[in-house]
Amino acid sequence: MAKTPFFNIESPYPVAALVGAGPGDFGLMTIAGAKALSAAAVVIYDALANPSFLTLCDSDAELIYVGKRAREHTLTQEEINAMLVKKCRNLMKNPEYEGRCVVRLKGGDPFVFGRGGEEGQVLTEAGIPFIVIPGITAGIAGAAYAGIPVTHRDFTSTVTFITGHQREVATGNASGAEGDDEVSEVDYDALAKLGGTLVFYMGVKNLPDITQRLITSGMDANTPAAVVRMATHPEQQTVVGTIKTIAEAAQKANIKAPAITVIGKVVSVRDQLNWFETRPLFGQTVLVTRTRQQASEFGALLVNLGAKVIEAPTIEIVKPTDRQAALAAIRNMIDYDCVVFTSANGVLSTWQAMQALELDGRDFAAGVAAIGPATAEALQSIGITPDVVAEDAIGEELASELIQYFGHNTRDDPDQDTEMNLSGTRFLLLRAEIARPALVDMLRKAHAEVDDVPVYQTRTPDSLPQSAIEAIRNGTLDWITFTSASTAKNLHIILPEDLHAAVGKCKRLSIGPMTSKAMDSLGWPPTAEAHQHDIPGMVETLLSEALKIKANRTGK
Ligand code: SAH
Repeated sequence: MAKTPFFNIESPYPVAALVGAGPGDFGLMTIAGAKALSAAAVVIYDALANPSFLTLCDSDAELIYVGKRAREHTLTQEEINAMLVKKCRNLMKNPEYEGRCVVRLKGGDPFVFGRGGEEGQVLTEAGIPFIVIPGITAGIAGAAYAGIPVTHRDFTSTVTFITGHQREVATGNASGAEGDDEVSEVDYDALAKLGGTLVFYMGVKNLPDITQRLITSGMDANTPAAVVRMATHPEQQTVVGTIKTIAEAAQKANIKAPAITVIGKVVSVRDQLNWFETRPLFGQTVLVTRTRQQASEFGALLVNLGAKVIEAPTIEIVKPTDRQAALAAIRNMIDYDCVVFTSANGVLSTWQAMQALELDGRDFAAGVAAIGPATAEALQSIGITPDVVAEDAIGEELASELIQYFGHNTRDDPDQDTEMNLSGTRFLLLRAEIARPALVDMLRKAHAEVDDVPVYQTRTPDSLPQSAIEAIRNGTLDWITFTSASTAKNLHIILPEDLHAAVGKCKRLSIGPMTSKAMDSLGWPPTAEAHQHDIPGMVETLLSEALKIKANRTGK
C-alpha cells in the first residue's frame, strides 16, 4: 500500500491520528487506518486492538502498549494523555520524522466508549493538529457477525448504544477490566420505553442487573437478547435468550469480557442470518507447519472458511551458503536464454535478491520456465508469466518441454524430432541448495549449457512460537497439517519431547503419500491424506472431514 505522508515540518498537519482498529478481525481495519499505521513513528495502543495490526507499522516504529489488564491499569488516562502530547511534540520538533505521525490506536471506534473524545480535546488544548479515523464499532460489527442487523424495517428504526459499566450498580464494582472506564448513569425507564434495539458495551458483569432493571421498568420479559463474546474473532461465541433468561445463560456459557449484549426483536433474525458461525470450519483450530511465507496463503484459505489458524513454521528459508554466487548469477540472468525455477521459494528468494540489487522485471532472462503450478503462481505474483510450465515436479517433463520450446533441429529435415537438442542454449537454474540432479543431467544430455545455482537453503528453526506450543500442550488443536515430509520431521525435532504424545492425540492431515510415509515412521500416522496433493486439496479434505463430523452430530 502506498504511504500517505503525514506530518510535514513546513505545515505540520496532521501530527496525530486517533485511529479505530475495529473489533478485532484484521480485515475490519479501515484503509485510512492502515495507511496511518504504515506512516507511524509512534503507536500508542490499547488491549483490544488485534496485535497483528502492528505488523502494518515500519520496523522502526515505537510501539507503546497502554491497555488495561484486569483491575490493573498500566497507565492512568492522564498519563496516556501526557504521553500522547509528549510524543507529538517530539515529532513536531524533529525534521527527521517528516511524513510520519503518532497513531493513537483504539479498539472499535475511537469516539465510541473509547475516551477518544477526551484525547482529541487534550491534543487541541496542546495545539497539536490531528485527524480522526473512525473504526467499526463492536456494537455494530459484533451484532452483524452474530447475524443480527441492528436495525430492520420490520422491527425497529432506532438503535441505542449504552455502556453497561455503571457507577451505581449494586456491587459497586467499577473496575476497568471490561474496557475503558466510561461511567454513566443510565435511565432504564427511558430505555424500556424507547425499546428498539439496545446494545450494551462493557456489561457482562452487570448483565443480571441490566436485564432486571429493564424488566422492572416495564420492558417485556420475552424480548429477545443475545450476548456476543470476542466478536469477529475465530473464537466468537454467541448466547441467545430473552431478557429474562440471558443473564443466566451467559453465566452458564462462561461468557467473559469482551462482549456486547444486543436486546430487541432484531435478535430473532439471527436464525436466518447467522453467516459467521455457520461457516464450515468455524470452531476448528488448525496448526500450519509450513514456512512463514507459505503459511499465510494456506492460513488465509482456512480463515475464510471459519477456522482459527495457528502458525508453527517448521522450515525457515535462509540465504544460500554462497550468497555471492547467487547474486552474481541473478545479476547476469539477462544473459541467459532461459531461467528455470523449481519452487515458489526459489522465485521469492530470487525476487528479494533482485530488489536488493535494484533490478526489476526487465532484468529476467528472455525465457522463463517453472515446475509446478505453485512456482508458476509465484512468478505471476511478481508480474512474470512463465513461457513454459511443467506439472511434473521431478523434472523430466520440464526437460522435454524445454527441448520442445528452445530446441533446435540438428538435421535438415524439420520433421525429425528425435534429433532436437539444446546445443548453444544457455540455461540458469535458480533453486534450493539441496536439489536432485535429474533436471540438470537431462538438459546437459540435450547439449544445453547449464548453470545450476542455489538461491536459498532451508533450515530447521530452533523453536516454535509460544502460541503453537501452548495449543499442542493444552490439546486445543483439532488438526495439525503437514505439507511435506520435512514439516513432519522438523516438527519432531523442534518440539520438546514431552509433547510428542500430544501430537499423536490431534488429528493429522498429510498432503500426500511421501509425507504420510514420513509421518508413519515418526509414529504420527495421518488421520487423513489429501486426495489432491496440494494446498487446495488439503483444504478440501478438511472441509469433507468437517462435514462428516456435522453429519454424525445431526445423525444424518
Ligand atoms: N471503542 C470500542 C469500545 C470500547 S469499550 C468500540 O467502538 O467498539 C470496550 C467494550 O467494547 C468491551 O467491554 C465490549 O463490550 C466491547 N467490545 C470491544 N471489542 C469487542 C469484541 N471483539 N467483541 C465483543 N465486544 C467487544
